[in-house]
Amino acid sequence: RKKLVQVKNLTKTFTLGKGLSLTAADNVSFDIYEGETFGLVGESGCGKSTTGRTIIGLYQPTTGEVIFDGQNVHQASSAVRSKLTRQMQMIFQDPYASLNPRMNIAEIISEGLYLNGLYKGKERMNRVIELLEMVGLQREHANRFPHEFSGGQRQRIGIARALAVNPPFIIADEPISALDVSVQAQVVNLMKKLQQEQKLTYLFIAHDLAMVKHISDRIGVMYLGNMVELSASEILYESPKHPYTQALLSAIPVPDPDLEKSRERTIIEGDVPSPINPPSGCVFRTRCSVAKAVCAEKKPIWQEVDINHFVACHLYQ
Ligand code: SF4
Ligand code: MG
Repeated sequence: RKKLVQVKNLTKTFTLGKGLSLTAADNVSFDIYEGETFGLVGESGCGKSTTGRTIIGLYQPTTGEVIFDGQNVHQASSAVRSKLTRQMQMIFQDPYASLNPRMNIAEIISEGLYLNGLYKGKERMNRVIELLEMVGLQREHANRFPHEFSGGQRQRIGIARALAVNPPFIIADEPISALDVSVQAQVVNLMKKLQQEQKLTYLFIAHDLAMVKHISDRIGVMYLGNMVELSASEILYESPKHPYTQALLSAIPVPDPDLEKSRERTIIEGDVPSPINPPSGCVFRTRCSVAKAVCAEKKPIWQEVDINHFVACHLYQ
């Protein structure tokens, strides 16, 4: 399979002044194959959005690189950069804040077309209508304003806006986290349908494993700027290896009440430590119930412990 996106040893450190710095992404590596959905999961502040934003070129990496379709995103000439910018679009978490309240839906959706000089005149409006229908809205909606829509409808508008310029790759940064539970599945199903129709590749960012379950082919779990586990999603749900992934999974309620009662739960104690002053050794050790002495001394290596199953944990080294 073709690797559409290659993230290689990506580190992004922000300088905060007063000699302080924050490493939001620490030596993160993964590939995204063409046509798949890669789920990127972790608590807020773990570096998922920073990783996404660096991939798309909004941030310059401190070290490491991102290759998109064979091109280095951060070293591309400006002509190549503008092509890459069009090929990578984003869907945002908050469908309330991400749509300009003073623009009507046609203007919002066609802004990218305008900026890229695509579909002129009447064709542009036809494209807007086509996009509205693709996301399950109607042509009559084109002249309305964001406040006239529900959260789910607004996210559909955000999706139409992202698709307008025909990108092969979409980063969805917590696209369903702000929506009612009843609407979340609709948006996920829409994204799956569009993926098939438009041959899209997704990076789907979420803060818990339940949200990415029905859409991801593979999943990467991040904790405090580090990728701690990566595998095919069935494998990750059935036999998670990293103690953090195990704890995240045990937090997802099981529908069967008898099963739910008999289940062992791993509660993750305490809060995520400050990324300004992360723990020595394994970043998860302050909350890990099976930490050993070595966990404070040495950072576990990111390694393939089973075919296509990567983990960073001393239990497997
Ligand atoms: Fe826990 Fe040690 Fe594994 Fe970190 S390396 S997850 S502290 S066992
Ligand atoms: Mg985020």
